[in-house]
Amino acid sequence: MSAAMLRELAKGNDEHVKSFSGSIKFSDFPKQDAVIILTCMDPRSNIIDTWNLPFGPAILRNAGGRATPDALRSMQVLASIMANGQSTLGAVAVIHHTDCGLVNFGNDFIHERMKMNAPEHLHKQIDGMDHGGFTDVEASIKEDMAIIKADSFLPKGLEVLGFIHDSFTGKTTEVV
Ligand SMILES: [Zn+2]
Repeated sequence: MSAAMLRELAKGNDEHVKSFSGSIKFSDFPKQDAVIILTCMDPRSNIIDTWNLPFGPAILRNAGGRATPDALRSMQVLASIMANGQSTLGAVAVIHHTDCGLVNFGNDFIHERMKMNAPEHLHKQIDGMDHGGFTDVEASIKEDMAIIKADSFLPKGLEVLGFIHDSFTGKTTEVV
């Protein structure tokens, strides 16, 4: 049933292709420092709408917008691709939002639900997992900013900003 829903959503591509005006080649990307926006996969956290974004920023989304190893991997990939002597990864914005699923349902809840599906011999392993649950939005942003700043594989001068996104007003506020 859910697969049918995805196939229905994929039909929107027909309209997209009709009005699509083509794309630039990878080699034609502008020679300027790249920026990355890290935010939550929650549909309310669609930063393209929230910030009225033009074409340009790379957007990473995961549960909570957390600075997980895979989020860092993507930052390292972009920084490396851009490291052509003229430009690099220049800045990252970490955006977490109020009423996030990871605030409403923390690690313990997720672990209990995972145990309902996983075989029993994996339950101990599940207890040791961090799924990024948090209680304080500002604190979680600062925690992820620190993780990104401390990553020795990212450019030395990388600027890291943080923003709280209010899910109910749509407003973002920089964390200082
Ligand atoms: Zn969220």
